[in-house]
Amino acid sequence: MAVVAFVGLGNMGGPMAANLAKAGNDVKGFDLSSDALAKLEEAGGKGCASVAEAVTGADVVVTMLPAGKHVRAVYTGDDGILANINKGATLIDSSTIDVQSARDVAAAAVDAGMNMVDAPVSGGVGGAAAGTLTFMVGGPDAAFEAAKPYLDIMGKTIVHAGGAGNGQAAKICNNMMLGIQMISVCEAFALAEKLGLDHQKLYDISSTASGQCWSLTSYCPVPGPVETSPANNDYKPGFAAAMMLKDLKLAQEASGAVSANTPLGAAADELYSAFCDAGNGDVDFSGIINKLRGA
Ligand code: NAD
Repeated sequence: MAVVAFVGLGNMGGPMAANLAKAGNDVKGFDLSSDALAKLEEAGGKGCASVAEAVTGADVVVTMLPAGKHVRAVYTGDDGILANINKGATLIDSSTIDVQSARDVAAAAVDAGMNMVDAPVSGGVGGAAAGTLTFMVGGPDAAFEAAKPYLDIMGKTIVHAGGAGNGQAAKICNNMMLGIQMISVCEAFALAEKLGLDHQKLYDISSTASGQCWSLTSYCPVPGPVETSPANNDYKPGFAAAMMLKDLKLAQEASGAVSANTPLGAAADELYSAFCDAGNGDVDFSGIINKLRGA
């Protein structure tokens, strides 16, 4: 089994690193939080005092960090991954970050003689713990093949989306669709209420008609029709509105950079910004129905 360094042992990275350790890998981790390091030790890994200590001698590095600036610093900083890792190691960044940072860091990694993929995930904390994440992977074929055995341990569905940065592109395009669709379903239910149309009736009709989509049939934003929806649990996440907003902002940033036309993505960004600014960042993203009702 391999020596795997894991940097960023938070809500997602912690259980992902634990699964790599459970599969028999020698996992060395680093995080700024001592609690996160203690949890890794409980899961059978070794907590390290720095990025350099964690990655020295590693065959594979996985990073799961908040944003592009953290990924740039951890990979390309003086005490970072590229300055301390063996040539030929495989680097996997699973953070959700902007496409340009992913492409810049991948280019620096290739210059330093490494295989690197961007491999953001969907599936949330539950999927991280269960090892059932979906990975959207960007990078050359050889880097994808080198990373795949480790992605297989942490996930269930692994899709090679193309060259460097295309994993991030897939993630933000998907989540832009999701944000727009959730707003569309919420608006329809809010209108139906005012028109005197019952929630369940609208669900029964639209879930088998042309309005059907995941936000309706798997994550219905009103209580009742879909038992597992956060709407039945007082809009506890689930997928927090602040995380949806992060992804919508990344989509708008990417859209602006390539002059794409995404007016509904921009509107979704504005609506989720207002919802989060009103103190709802920790509410499930389907809770935006309350804003759309004017509540
Ligand atoms: P988190 O805040 O729980 O974890 C991030 C961890 O990174 C923290 O423990 C923090 O201490 C650590 N960290 C920050 N800077 C560091 C540095 N310089 N060196 C070492 N450690 C550092 O966040 P999370 O929920 O685990 O999310 C991680 C990434 O996964 C984000 O990019 C997020 O958008 C993405 N993501 C999260 C979810 C989810 O449901 N939580 C789902 C899909 C994707």
